[in-house]
Amino acid sequence: MDYRLIIFDADGTLRYCTVEGQPCPNRAGEWKLYPGVIETLERFNWAHPGEETGVGYGIASNQGGVGVGYFAESTAIALLEDTFIEAFGFSPAEETIEICPHVPHSGCGCRKPEPTMLNRLMKLYGTSPDHVLFVGDRDADRKAAFNAGCDFQWASEFFDRDPES
Ligand SMILES: [Mg+2]
Ligand SMILES: [Zn+2]
Repeated sequence: MDYRLIIFDADGTLRYCTVEGQPCPNRAGEWKLYPGVIETLERFNWAHPGEETGVGYGIASNQGGVGVGYFAESTAIALLEDTFIEAFGFSPAEETIEICPHVPHSGCGCRKPEPTMLNRLMKLYGTSPDHVLFVGDRDADRKAAFNAGCDFQWASEFFDRDPES
């Protein structure tokens, strides 16, 4: 793999919700990393924006629960930062965590499968789409990668885990 930037979906990709019947965490203590995430991510030499060598990173997450009113936007971002730190072992640089806080079907223009969040991260790193991989678990993720012009890989393949887990 010769990517300059790898972007990750969060829910169903890096973490799962530990509350039965709830698709994603609403507060701290309601999520866990999937087994193998830390071990896979530590194989890379990650680069913050502006660094010359290494692989850039980012998160692009639909957080429709904000728009619906389940939790505040600040909570969604804090939960993703916590997830990132546990997964990668360091704090994410500013602007590397992208969320769409809008309700589904609002036509907001940033919710995946729109490529907007991926485009922002590519711009942050100054990377063209042909050097970018997006890792996700939903068809909207696959389509967002297609719409951004970058490669896509299913989380189950990237992290080498059972697709049903
Ligand atoms: Mg997902
Ligand atoms: Zn949006």
